[in-house]
Amino acid sequence: MSIAENLEAIRAQLPEDVELVAVSKTHPASFIEEAYGHGQRHFGENKVQEMAAKAEELPKDICWHLIGHLQTNKVKYIAEFVHLIHSVDSLKLLKEINKRAAKAERVIDCLLQVHIAEEDTKFGLDMDEVRELLISDELSAMQHVRIRGLMGMATFTEDQDQVKREFSGLKSKFDELKQEVDAFEGWQPDTLSMGMSGDWKLAVEQGSNMVRVGSAIFGQRNYG
Ligand SMILES: *Cc1c(COP(=O)(O)O)cnc(C)c1O
Repeated sequence: MSIAENLEAIRAQLPEDVELVAVSKTHPASFIEEAYGHGQRHFGENKVQEMAAKAEELPKDICWHLIGHLQTNKVKYIAEFVHLIHSVDSLKLLKEINKRAAKAERVIDCLLQVHIAEEDTKFGLDMDEVRELLISDELSAMQHVRIRGLMGMATFTEDQDQVKREFSGLKSKFDELKQEVDAFEGWQPDTLSMGMSGDWKLAVEQGSNMVRVGSAIFGQRNYG
């Protein structure tokens, strides 16, 4: 199937209030142009340099999502244009994003990445750390970041029950947080980013409203 057909097939099954982020990492700009020509505007990348190079070359109305681990010293390369950073996993990183966003005279939307998988290889905060960050004086003093919600990646397993459990667990925690921590400028929770090519349907059933789909749109990645 073509990129356009893959997009069509996914959109046909995706509820209207769920945002589809097309994960274009490792793929050439021509693939993104094809999806763009088919109405896609939200794209996800996991490497700062790759995203910056593509953003430079491609149409300016694309919304770029940074979904991979972000190193503090690289924030400066994306601060001018990034639409949403899904992978905030420390206060130190948030401070740097705030600083660079101030320089760029904008507010950068962020998600806190929460560790929900059983594997310990994936990045992310635990819920106590999320709470601590949300109620910190440091965050309330930041004028240039806005935390819009949470992101999580389930365990890479065939066990659908486990994946479902991890997604529903994150959804409950998100709902609890919204109750516990009143919204303020730095905390405007409306986004729960969970679900990839293999598990986005399950994620949406469990309450995700943003899915990050790569290979099901663009085909297998070749990491050469
Ligand atoms: C690569 C990646 C995706 C997309 O993965 P697919 O299985 O190709 O859909 C989603 N989220 C993150 C964080 C990723 O790194």
